[in-house]
Amino acid sequence: CGIVGYAGCRPALNIVVDGLRRLEYRGYDSAGVAIVDGEGDLVTEKRAGKLANLEKALAEDGATGLAAGMTGIGHTRWATHGGPTDRNAHPHRSADGRVAVIHNGILENFARLRAELEAEGVEFTSETDTECAAHLLAAELGHLTEHTDPAERLAEAMRRVCRRLEGAFTLLAVDNLAPGAVVGARRNSPLVVGCGEGENYLASDVSAFIEHTRDAIELGQDQVVLITPEGVSVTDFHGTPVEGTRFHIDWDA
Ligand code: GLU
Repeated sequence: CGIVGYAGCRPALNIVVDGLRRLEYRGYDSAGVAIVDGEGDLVTEKRAGKLANLEKALAEDGATGLAAGMTGIGHTRWATHGGPTDRNAHPHRSADGRVAVIHNGILENFARLRAELEAEGVEFTSETDTECAAHLLAAELGHLTEHTDPAERLAEAMRRVCRRLEGAFTLLAVDNLAPGAVVGARRNSPLVVGCGEGENYLASDVSAFIEHTRDAIELGQDQVVLITPEGVSVTDFHGTPVEGTRFHIDWDA
């Protein structure tokens, strides 16, 4: 029910978890994070229950990438497909472990997509509608070797996935071959960008990043956004650049 993303020059984990805490009021049954470090290690941690359960698991894990990574995404889940278990909590990884995806909403055509992927031999590890987006994204990335810039390649792969999805979604993804980049997409579900100095944010609600920046961009329907520490770029699902609606948050969220 809540989504946070960060690409910047500070350790991402605390920023992401603090952002999730600011979104707690929406209600949720599970929480999780994915962090990419400069070495291209992608570490995920996810737990059913309150954020405290996730924080306990993070403290016990001690993976170096968790503390060091400056790119991250975080999710609080309100289960619609698959019960509220650790396994069904987001992020969901592709089978090769390359990408991690978080999602708010419902993918209406997930059963068909899942059947197609299973027919190709992909093994699912959860009962969610979301997991198919992780496998589709990894497959599209695999087709895009001609793209040289890894961040742009991630954005293009996300656009291709979005063109196959039906329903309502805010999606964020990270790719361990594109450290420093977070890609987001939205249809029938909210996503805002927070623009900082040498760092940028994505969230389902401005309250997740308002303590860091009050310069924001509202994304329109069917748009994909790529954030890196240096910049923000927005396109439609076909890659045509679009201007997001810039605004200043002058209220207390
Ligand atoms: N449909 C997804 C799931 O059940 C996302 C739910 C949400 O919006 O948190 O896992």
